[in-house]
Amino acid sequence: MSLPKLLNFIHGELLENKSGQSFDVINPATNEVIYQTEIADDFIKKQAIESAKQGFATWSAMSAVERSRILLKAVALLRERNDDLAKIEVLDTGKPIQEADCVDIETGADVIEYFAGLAPTQLGSQQTVGNDFFYTRKEPLGICAGIGAWNYPLQIACWKSGPALAAGNVLIFKPSEETPRGAVELAKIFIEAGMPAGVFNVVHGAGEVGQWLTTHSDIEKVSFTGEVGTGQKVMQSAASNLKEVTMELGGKSPLIVFDDAEITEAVSAAMLGNFYTQGEVCTNCTRVYVQRSVYDEFIEELKNRTENNIVMGDPLDPNVNLGALISKKHLALVLNYIELGKQQGATVLTGGYQATPESAPNGNFVAPTIFVDCNDDMTIVKEEIFGPVMCVLPFDDEDDVIKRANNTELGLAAGVFSQNIKRAHRVIHQLNAGICWINSYGNSPAEMPVGGYKRSGIGRENGVETLNSYTQTKSIYVGMSQIESPF
Ligand code: NAD
Repeated sequence: MSLPKLLNFIHGELLENKSGQSFDVINPATNEVIYQTEIADDFIKKQAIESAKQGFATWSAMSAVERSRILLKAVALLRERNDDLAKIEVLDTGKPIQEADCVDIETGADVIEYFAGLAPTQLGSQQTVGNDFFYTRKEPLGICAGIGAWNYPLQIACWKSGPALAAGNVLIFKPSEETPRGAVELAKIFIEAGMPAGVFNVVHGAGEVGQWLTTHSDIEKVSFTGEVGTGQKVMQSAASNLKEVTMELGGKSPLIVFDDAEITEAVSAAMLGNFYTQGEVCTNCTRVYVQRSVYDEFIEELKNRTENNIVMGDPLDPNVNLGALISKKHLALVLNYIELGKQQGATVLTGGYQATPESAPNGNFVAPTIFVDCNDDMTIVKEEIFGPVMCVLPFDDEDDVIKRANNTELGLAAGVFSQNIKRAHRVIHQLNAGICWINSYGNSPAEMPVGGYKRSGIGRENGVETLNSYTQTKSIYVGMSQIESPF
């Protein structure tokens, strides 16, 4: 039986490539090939650029209100098709349907809706200088590229297209080769909503196609989500024609639990920030620092809830709350980190092994794993693992834990749990991280800018400033007085 084939989406339609080259997409919960995806060959790449140029001419000439109306129609379609889209995301990513159903599509739609609302609010300025004056216009950049990771495929496509398109740009989006379907569904929805062809094109492939986007001289900006190392390569390539970049990269974020915290709440946060999407979330709080006087209480509740409340298995089962890791390769990487943790002297409190749940025996499952007796020099405490692996570390003193929390090259997120309002703010202000939570963890509404400090990123997604980052300012000086010329 031949497998379904996913094509590149160019100029409003699915377009066959000329080379016939394609790659397999595998369901992480079964390790079966579920469909094949055609690679963007030279023909597709050329068409993608030509189409984007045409799309830009039409889209940028429309008023912001007209663009907004189309984006809002797409938002309504995303919400209407939530369940079908959620299922597509589960098959591609291995994450539980109980998450995809209420988070992935919804938070993607929220962001497009937010930027659709902001689009008509973009203002220029005017200022008098002597008898003359100048005014500014906010203009779009032109053709932008988005490159996505595999953990939130459709959501990432929405988060990048929302601000880019609202500001009048067009976007060529390359989803991760592990999860290419969601972006194509979004492209179809945009067309159905009345978006002109060429405004949102989708090209498929791995690093080579990504690299092509980052070096192409007609592309003005690259918004990238992925690993730090890949981000460095993307930035280097983007420098070839001085493209603007946004980098949403990895993290190794601290959660600090003080002795006056509500322990049950803090445990909820630690579990959400380590086991949601089977640990494959960039902002995860994989270093949990707990003040020594409440350490035992915290550990006891954490172990108990992890061992009793987590259900692994077929991610399409609505009762399952821990899904499969994206690939066999990634599974091996996570298991290798767990072995390293054991070798370097950390103690497994619970988990620490590959799991084979009855309902999905061939999937890439790792039991939710908690390490105690960790120290800050261990590899598992220093490096991003991107799996359900939490390290818990005791601390005594506020200043000391701030130093330890900041002792990393990464700076994506951080959390503090404390009932002492002064302490909570004082500590969070000293943490070198771009996305911070007090007595909460993981929420990321469209209105809130998100992005990393240090090696975790450059620029922001969401929030007002992101719309600005997809515009350039044109200053226009208007002479009203006679020109003074020595010539
Ligand atoms: P990755 O860096 O391996 O791949 C990301 C994307 O880059 C893929 O589409 C890939 O095909 C493409 N790519 C690979 N090589 C390229 C090159 N040389 N030039 C251009 N593109 C290239 O990342 P991943 O494994 O897909 O995702 C996991 C990582 O993403 C984690 O580190 C995670 O923390 C990070 N992430 C960050 C955020 C955030 O918002 N900060 C969100 C999600 C994931």
